Amino acid sequence: MSQPEFFDQGALVAVLTTQPLDRLLDYKAPEGGCLTGAFVEVPLGPRKVLGVVWGAGQGDFDLSRIRSVIRVLDAAPMRDEMMTFLTRAADYTLTPMPAMLRLATRAPGLSDPPSMRKVYRRGQGEPDRMTDARRRVLAVLQDYGGLSFTLKELAEMAGVTASVVKGLVKQGAVAELDRPRDLPMPPLDPDRPGKALTDDQAAAADHMRTALRSRTYGTTLLKGVTGSGKTEVYLEAVAECLAQGRQALVLLPEIALTAEFLTRVEARFGARPAEWHSGVTLTERRRVWKMVGQGNAQLVVGARSALFLPFQHLGLIIVDEEHDTSYKQEDGVLYNARDMAVLRAAICGARVVLASATPSLESWANAQSGKYGMVELTARFGAAVMPEMRAIDMRAEKLQAGSWISPSLRMAVQDRLAKGEQAMLFINRRGYAPVTLCRACGQQVGCDHCDARMVEHRFLKRLMCHQCGETRPIPTVCPACGAEDRLAPVGPGVERLGEEAVALFPDARIATLSSDLFGSARALKAEIEKIAAGEADIIIGTQLVAKGHNFPLLTLVGVIDADLGLQGSDLRAAERTFQLMRQVAGRAGRAERPGTALLQTFQPEHPVIRAILSGDEDGFWRAEAAEREVAGVPPFGRMAGIILSGSDVAQVFDLGNALARADAPLRRIGAQVFGPAPAPIARIRGRHRVRLLVKAAKGAPLQEALAAWIAPFRPKGDLRLNVDIDPQSFY
Ligand code: ADP
Ligand code: ZN
Repeated sequence: MSQPEFFDQGALVAVLTTQPLDRLLDYKAPEGGCLTGAFVEVPLGPRKVLGVVWGAGQGDFDLSRIRSVIRVLDAAPMRDEMMTFLTRAADYTLTPMPAMLRLATRAPGLSDPPSMRKVYRRGQGEPDRMTDARRRVLAVLQDYGGLSFTLKELAEMAGVTASVVKGLVKQGAVAELDRPRDLPMPPLDPDRPGKALTDDQAAAADHMRTALRSRTYGTTLLKGVTGSGKTEVYLEAVAECLAQGRQALVLLPEIALTAEFLTRVEARFGARPAEWHSGVTLTERRRVWKMVGQGNAQLVVGARSALFLPFQHLGLIIVDEEHDTSYKQEDGVLYNARDMAVLRAAICGARVVLASATPSLESWANAQSGKYGMVELTARFGAAVMPEMRAIDMRAEKLQAGSWISPSLRMAVQDRLAKGEQAMLFINRRGYAPVTLCRACGQQVGCDHCDARMVEHRFLKRLMCHQCGETRPIPTVCPACGAEDRLAPVGPGVERLGEEAVALFPDARIATLSSDLFGSARALKAEIEKIAAGEADIIIGTQLVAKGHNFPLLTLVGVIDADLGLQGSDLRAAERTFQLMRQVAGRAGRAERPGTALLQTFQPEHPVIRAILSGDEDGFWRAEAAEREVAGVPPFGRMAGIILSGSDVAQVFDLGNALARADAPLRRIGAQVFGPAPAPIARIRGRHRVRLLVKAAKGAPLQEALAAWIAPFRPKGDLRLNVDIDPQSFY
């Protein structure tokens, strides 16, 4: 890596700002000069905006009109490797650089002056008059030796009001000091002993430690069934990385960021890691961002955007549950955190560990071809074994209208209840019923803004559009024909399944888990902990329960509709169903008692259902890979989605047709364009949506061709053009 260049005061520098401009802007270096990579505040029109000094200025502008950088911010300069990462990520995803910089500076108050806060500790003086309250304050300070407290902490611990502490300050018995608000994260100790590993686990951990010692880039797929100890193994890799004095990052799907995981890290390293996800407070975000940049945070546990934190010497990135679809950002900058982790590591010489029980086909293929290393844990830890999996053939079951739990599944649940074990019923659908139908006119209630049905959420007493989030009270009158009290729910959602379970198993304690049944992530976590402790007999859940949680008493998983995911036209429908079913089933039998998973299906002969039941994973991946190879689709070919949207459907199609006609830059690399065609969800939030799909051979320079292709098109008015490289969903 080259040394950052220093610019003397008045020298021209080029600054990348977070504002949507398509070029760097020239400024004069401020008093005291600045380095390449410096975070700065610059004037832009009447405003002050955040930017980064990207290099020497262009000087192609009237020099007398060039303004000065206002000041250099109190933050470690952006490293060369981070600048390279943002540039390459922008090229890969065809994202403008200002949007990349916004991703990399998503913490509030970065331009604030370094802020201080007051802390309190024992002073030299003595109070003129001793009271009980004063004695308690001094006793707390005495008990905790040289530690200092905030006013609130000290008053609370001593059980006094703030004015008692202030009174002691006046008399010099308590000292009031200014401390920087953003404190370093507590140090983690990599030398504390971990758990005694099994032979398999020890071999896997050794492999990773050796890889880390090479201090060069490499990616390893860590494959192992749920409960095999993947987390134990990668924590050993984290320990090695920390012992080398480098920083580590563990990425988890947002939903799996549980207290349980943080507690495990704390048990292993003696302190909690830095956290980075949507639940972190704004002040804590700023602290984490700054401390990561100063090298004062050794380990970050976070959601996908943690990849854009300003690490100083990153040695290891773990992507846990690497197949999880939530790693693909579907809004704003469309990036896949798994792929970006590999890119970032390759630039800075770090290792990547992709952990999963059911890897994505991409990672599986990369391991097969030798591009990634592969380490496998084949057995569950301790007595736990993989659950037995069976189909319930719904064609042979007798079900009443409006019920979804088959007699066979019902008997299996009753059997577990009798034994004092837990059962889980899984349905991947939020709300009460997916469709609300008018029995008078046959119309389904739809969203006014989207091409989607309104889903009844009985718990919230509202209808909700799962596309735009719009809700409205549940109507008693049909919006189409005006008939009264003829609206009926059709089909099951998790809430309705809960209702059925209550009727079928009146004596059981039933817990329904769906994200919208809880006011906050914390309430949900508390509920999950209660369930894990055995405070429920039957758990009814959506996708939320498929991931990461450990329910030791759970021995039966019943999947209400195993066919649900197979219906989509999505390229990855089979892969997703396979992964989800294996994950859900993996919830059963984590402790001493063996588990069973029962899949209700109308098509037990479907190849995907058969592969799930037989557990022949390699067979499934090989078959799936062969099909995609023949079709020339990822990971054996390249794809990009173009999503056009706007309020006027004719304009959107005109743009689509114009793009399709101007495909010369794509033809030059042998790529093909399909479409324009209405997107599967043809209208969202009142905007009409049209898709084009571009397919190219694996080695083709797709991004350059795409950039050349769309460059002449500047969508006007409210028309939007978004490029989605390697689309994960086609909605
Ligand atoms: P995975 O990440 O593959 O799902 P975990 O690492 O979470 O697996 O391990 C599953 C459970 O088994 C955890 O409760 C973990 O603490 C325990 N476990 C795994 N390996 C060991 C070991 N070597 N010693 C003690 N407990 C272990
Ligand atoms: Zn809607």
